[in-house]
Amino acid sequence: MTVEATIEGLRGRPGVGETIPIIDPVTEQPIAEFADGGAAAIDDAVARARETFDAGVWHQKPQAEQAQVLWRVAELLAARADVLAQLDSLNTGMPLPQAQRNIAAAVEFFRYFSGWCTKINGIAHDVRMSGGLSGLDASVHAYTIKEPVGVVGLIVPWNGPAFNAAAKLAPSLAAGCSSVLKPAEETPLSALVFEEVLAEAGVPDGVVNLVNGYGHTTGQALIEHPDVDKIAFTGSTEVGKLIVQAAAGNLKRVMLELGGKSPVLIYDDAELDKAVPAAAMGIFIHSGQACVAGSRVFVQRGVYDQVVEGIATLGTKIRLGGPNEGKVHSGPIISERQLHRVMGYIEEGKRDGAEVVIGGHRLDRTGYFVHPTVLAEVRQDMRVFQEEIFGPVVAVTPFDDDDEVVAMANDSTYGLAASAWTRDISHAHRLAKRLDAGTVSINCQMMWDPAMPFGGFKQSGWGYENGQDGIEGYLKNKTVWAQL
Ligand code: NAP
Ligand code: MG
Repeated sequence: MTVEATIEGLRGRPGVGETIPIIDPVTEQPIAEFADGGAAAIDDAVARARETFDAGVWHQKPQAEQAQVLWRVAELLAARADVLAQLDSLNTGMPLPQAQRNIAAAVEFFRYFSGWCTKINGIAHDVRMSGGLSGLDASVHAYTIKEPVGVVGLIVPWNGPAFNAAAKLAPSLAAGCSSVLKPAEETPLSALVFEEVLAEAGVPDGVVNLVNGYGHTTGQALIEHPDVDKIAFTGSTEVGKLIVQAAAGNLKRVMLELGGKSPVLIYDDAELDKAVPAAAMGIFIHSGQACVAGSRVFVQRGVYDQVVEGIATLGTKIRLGGPNEGKVHSGPIISERQLHRVMGYIEEGKRDGAEVVIGGHRLDRTGYFVHPTVLAEVRQDMRVFQEEIFGPVVAVTPFDDDDEVVAMANDSTYGLAASAWTRDISHAHRLAKRLDAGTVSINCQMMWDPAMPFGGFKQSGWGYENGQDGIEGYLKNKTVWAQL
């Protein structure tokens, strides 16, 4: 499938609702359009998923065959890495090398979860009873079976289209689930290649069903659907809460990967030649549109001026541009709506008294580009300190000691990620215990591997992706008792 064929394919997909244009965030021009699938397309897709699940066409296959199919998916995605990277890059405006790293990670998801197909086991327990609750004095054999949860709705955001789709498709397939995938309205292109690859690799027809559309129409129909057993979602905390409400209808299970306002702690004794570039990249790369972006940097007073200047210098050196504009470090904000949201936060930060060290403005050119922005002297009560901006905007705050910085770092409704930079490794591990976040990085940032669980504390989410915890989320335990 070429980029052009994918765009044509998107135009031809069924839908009953209004036509949704896709705007290139670099040129601000439409590149494609598609029809909103709406409730009717969701009903059809859920019915197909349910039929395949109940018929067992996928989850009853020998595990070794499932593993081979998922490995083939990885191989076929790798073979199409070029077109996938071009599509994600065109759709989001991210630089091509960054899109290529995203596709490589998407491939790794399928390789890793392919291995799980043959390793999903329950437990056996030699229960010896004497009376007990049941009053039975019996010899029993007890064991558990892990079964797929059933039909899952997979809802993903725009910031890493192929990566996010793979993060959910790979474990849900490894567990034996059937699914309905709804990509973000802004970035539906690379999912079409997944559809083609899954079929070619041997995933039976109807096991994965792609439906395009808006969140408030198509997505809403999916989260409310009484025949969906689980929703796995990545996106905003606001929509996460809507999903929890909608899930109450049939008490479907919910896995949520939500936003963050992740703190980065830089101590006087940190290796600044590593900490400063990592802190700058941790917020400016992908124009800050990453859930784990280090958007609050706390710097110990002894190195405060040096670190602020270092991050600011790197921020001004970042070359922003579109994928076709030569060597660029970072791309645009995804949409005009998000651009206005980011600029609104910057303006509010200024009004609240934050000092703009660099940036604070949109680039004077076509496209939704925001200059990397460093806000200093940010206080805890400001919205730029508390809320997820999802743009290239970092709030820098000085601190004196552990108690002060840990209190400030944990003063957040979010708890997704945190990192600490210090040469004193015992100190770093003590901080890891005190920081209230699902992922803590020591002398590094934005680490990722499909084998390591990833999940948010507080309002950053429910449940985990990746690793054994990641696959458990798509499984349920059945306990079997047999009297001997
Ligand atoms: P969002 O609204 O949470 O969208 C994420 C996904 O949920 C999209 O596919 C969206 O559909 C869908 N959705 C929206 N409303 C829905 C509903 N009522 N029912 C079911 N699905 C629904 O995120 P966004 O608007 O794209 O971005 C807004 C903010 O979310 C960002 O500024 C950022 O703070 C946060 N965000 C976080 C992450 C993350 O990785 N944690 C990723 C992206 C965004 P459509 O958008 O297609 O309509
Ligand atoms: Mg949206």
